[in-house]
Formats: sequence, C-alpha cells, structure tokens
Amino acid sequence: MAAQVHGFQTEVAKLLKLLANSLYSNKEVFLRELISNASDAIDKLRFLSITKPELAQEDPVLRIRVRADRDAGTLTISDNGIGMTLAEANERLGTIANSGTEDFLSKLSADDAKSSQLIGQFGVGFYSAFIVADRVTVRSRAAGAKPDEAVCWSSDGTGTYMSETTVKADRGTDVILHLKADEREFLNDWTLRETITKFSDHISTPVYLYEAPKDDEKKEDDKKEASSPEDVWHQVNDAKALWTLSPKDVKDEEYKAFYTHLTHDYGEPLAWAHNRVEGDLEYTSLLYIPGEAPWDLYGNPEEQKGLKLFVQRVFIMDRAKAFLPNYLRFIRGLVDTNDLPLNVSRELLQESRVVSKLKKALTKRSLDMIEKLAEDKENVEKYRTFWNAFGRVLKEGVVEDPANRERILKCLRFASTKTIEEGDASLVSLDEYIARAPEAQKKIYFLIAGTREAAEHSPYLETLKKKNVEVLLLWDRIDEWMMNAITEYAGKGFVSATASDLELGDLADKEEEKAREEETKEAQADIERLKKALGDKVEGVRVSTRLVDSPSCVVGSNDQMLTAQMRRMLEAAGQ
Ligand code: ADP
Ligand code: MG
Repeated sequence: MAAQVHGFQTEVAKLLKLLANSLYSNKEVFLRELISNASDAIDKLRFLSITKPELAQEDPVLRIRVRADRDAGTLTISDNGIGMTLAEANERLGTIANSGTEDFLSKLSADDAKSSQLIGQFGVGFYSAFIVADRVTVRSRAAGAKPDEAVCWSSDGTGTYMSETTVKADRGTDVILHLKADEREFLNDWTLRETITKFSDHISTPVYLYEAPKDDEKKEDDKKEASSPEDVWHQVNDAKALWTLSPKDVKDEEYKAFYTHLTHDYGEPLAWAHNRVEGDLEYTSLLYIPGEAPWDLYGNPEEQKGLKLFVQRVFIMDRAKAFLPNYLRFIRGLVDTNDLPLNVSRELLQESRVVSKLKKALTKRSLDMIEKLAEDKENVEKYRTFWNAFGRVLKEGVVEDPANRERILKCLRFASTKTIEEGDASLVSLDEYIARAPEAQKKIYFLIAGTREAAEHSPYLETLKKKNVEVLLLWDRIDEWMMNAITEYAGKGFVSATASDLELGDLADKEEEKAREEETKEAQADIERLKKALGDKVEGVRVSTRLVDSPSCVVGSNDQMLTAQMRRMLEAAGQ
C-alpha cells in the first residue's frame, strides 16, 4: 500500500505547537513518556498472553532498549510489547482520545511551569517526542501480525503525518527520534544513563541502554558483538516492583520516585501508605496523597483516576475505580491482590465481593493516612496544603459514606468567627472547636452563606458573637448539602445561627429574657403592624435579643431546619 498523508486532529496540531515552547525547561520528559509507553505496551502483552501464550512465544523475553546513533543523529526507543497495526497507529498517534482536551490545552498555554506535569497526567506523552525531534518515525508490528503487516508512521510534528504498511522482522515498536541540531546532548551515554535511571527505575521491565564500545576497545568488541550482544546492552534500571518489597526496605526517596513513575506528577506526594495484608483477604496496597489537585479533579467524575490494579504482580488495568469511593478520588496508587482472577474485567469488578471487601479496606487505609497527616503536629503546613487541595472533595464523603462519617468529620477544617479574626490561613477542626468552647455551650454553631463576605458579615452572628460563641462559617457550594446530612459530632448537635431557637441553654441570659418579655409588651403595636404587612409570608413576628446592631432579620422556625441559603435555593427552584 502506498504511503498516505493524514492531517492531525485539530487538538493535536494545537498541542504540538504549544509543546515546544511550554516544556522547554523540562524537555527530558520525552524519555520518560516514551519509556513509559514502551512499558505499557509490554504490560499489555504480558496481560494478553495469559490467555493467548502464543502471542509472546517467538520473542518471550520482554525488554525495552534505548540506542543512540551519533552518526545518524537518532535516538531509538524499542520494545517487544503489544505493538500497533496501521489502523491503530493512525488512530492513536494522530488523535487525542480525551474528553477534556480543550480544557487541558487552555491550562497548558496559561501556565508554562506546570505544563510538564500536565502533559504526562493528561496522557499525550507520545507527542513530547517533538520537543527534541524534528522528525519522529514509528515502526511497529502488532503481536500476532505477520512481518509484512507492520506499520511505518512518520511526522515532522507540524500539521500532518505519513503512514504506510512496511516489513518488520520482530514484534513490537521502535520509536526513532531524529534529534534537532541543538538537542544532540541526548546522544551522550552519560546524559542518557542519567535520564533513564531517573525515570525508569521503577519500571518492572528491564530497560537496556546501548553503550558503544570505547574507540580503543572497538575492534575487540566488534568481534564480540556478534557472539554476545549483552556486552553492549547494559541494564539501567533494577526492574523490581517496589510494592512487593517490605516497607522497611524502601526509602522515602524511593517512594517519591515511584510516585512520579506512577502518576507522572513531578511534585512530591504529601503522604503515602504501604500495606501488605495477609490472611482472609490478601493484598498489597500503596496509596499516595498527591501534593496538589490534578487539573481535572472537579471535572467529569468519569475522569476519576482510580488505582492501578495488579493481580499476582501482573498489571491488569489502570484507573480501576471500583476500589475507592468517589470522595477519595484524589488518592493515587495501586493495589495488588491474589484474590481476584487474572482475567478479571471491569464488569466483573463491579459485582465482585472481593472488590467490595478491598474497597472497604482501602477506604480505611486512606482515611488512616489522612488522619495521620491531620494529626502530624510537626507538619501542619502539609495538612493545610491537603485541605486546600482536596477538602471540598473530602466533604462529599460526609454524605456519601455514612459508615465513616465521624472519621471524615474529624478530618474536616472550618473557617469560623474566631479563625477569621486570627488571620486567613488558620482553620479549626471540630475537636478543637469543642475543646475551646465555653463549658456551658452544648451545641456546635454554624452559618452557611453564599460567599465568605456574606458569612463574615452576617447579622445572624451578632448574638452569638456577643456571647463569645464561636460560629463555623461555611460558603462552599457543597456545604448546605453536607450540613443537612449531619445532626451531631462527638455527641454535640449542630445548630444553624439562623435558627429561631439557638438552644443556648445555660448560655442564655436570664436578665435578657426578662427584658425581651418586656420589650415584647412594649412593641406589641409594632408587631401587629408587621404581621399585617407580611401576612402569611411569615409564621410569626417576635421580639428578639439576637441582633445587636441590625434592626431585624428573618429566622427559620425550629422544626423547619432550613437555613437561609437553602430556602433561597428552594424558592429559586419554585418550591
Ligand atoms: P497514553 O500513553 O497516556 O495513552 P500517549 O500519547 O503516550 O498517551 O500514547 C498514545 C497511544 O499510543 C498509547 O495509548 C498507545 O495506544 C499508543 N502507543 C504509544 N507508544 C506505543 C508503543 N511503544 N507500543 C504500542 N503502542 C504505543
Ligand atoms: Mg503514554
């Protein structure tokens, strides 16, 4: 078949234009991305050959090879993994199959510094080859395809690519980068070794680097090469699966590097938890809390990351969402279990009892990890970072996971009338709130408003402020929903500052109550007038001591526990 020229999908063309500029300071990521693609291709083959062993038969030792050719100015990354057919190459190397593409592109252009992290997270790693290459050629033969059913794909990274059928002797993929004139440093053994080590240490497939024999040894080695090729192919990584080691044998630095390998996030994780569990339910889990929210955390829940699933150390799938509840969707990591069959499918995961047990266990592990971070008094900053990045998501758990509600509530942080006085960054937990409340205070007071300003300046706060009662201030969109789901924490009930009976108990002032009775008598004429004017818009008009500076306010009756914002929402909905 003759070579065909195709135009890139519009988004790809846009991306390619942006890449060269936005990743300049981190351009070696291309190696990470291409090696990770090679490793994915090998994982896929390993997985398929469980049921079809013939796929890997002719070339069974799976490996990745990197070779620089200084004369030609090319760098080639080869794998003997799953490979691609012509149709697959056209589809996968010419389009981006991700619904958030536009959003991603706008973020990429808006923030240069973050771009290198974004690109890996978004799954457009292949295109990073064009940061350093002015032509990329991909030669690939799919597992099960004949030598003359291979594909050659090539592009200079501008608007189009070429593809055609070709002949390739062995299974797998060669990605050949024709390096730009000023990127030839990536032909140096030393640079390559450095970079590959950095990125591939945790790849569980061996990565080999071709190291050309030194000139004076060359003659000798040329002879050797024919008989023992391993003399020039040096393994660069240790190809061990980190999670299978005992936690006491793994250094912090190794956990961090593994996190980057797993998530493509260059930043440091805030915390991790590595557990190996034996007995009734056997699994190993390695969970991480990222250092910052991914760009799509609040977007389409379908984009939820999920965990990597391994069964008996064989990689099974990415983004397995069945192992954590939605409100823990920011947790990254992996689970490896012996209790699921190797041929488990996404559909099977949905119904599996083992999976629901694992989900329960991993939820607990995640909450343990969050709680531990919250209680770490030496790293208060870390929890603040956590809270700012993921607090809003964690709040969803209050409604979503009643079984763990108390634990989740313990991890929540609030702004309050006190913290706002103390300065922006300070927040309070429910435990601290209870501990510092006056003894006579039996309730937890809160106020929900549309914005921070509205909360801060609400007239509903006046009485409570006067009595020195701290009020939690909430203004997230999710808060109304969340507060409606809870009635108490640590045996203390929640009372909205907008309720007509603030249930002040011993905090209420007897003197004041008397005064109010008297005022009511005096104000009887006014009350009648207001009642008439407001008609059935209100249940009643009362004299109150709750306001100090403002003349009047609307309150909810006690049985109708609606807060002002909720009422507005219902009204807007025509209720
Ligand atoms: P991602 O790896 O996140 O899917 P990439 O842009 O890195 O995104 O790669 C796009 C797709 O191209 C991959 O999903 C895979 O299907 C295909 N691909 C890339 N490199 C290889 C390879 N070495 N072997 C087989 N398929 C590959
Ligand atoms: Mg990739």
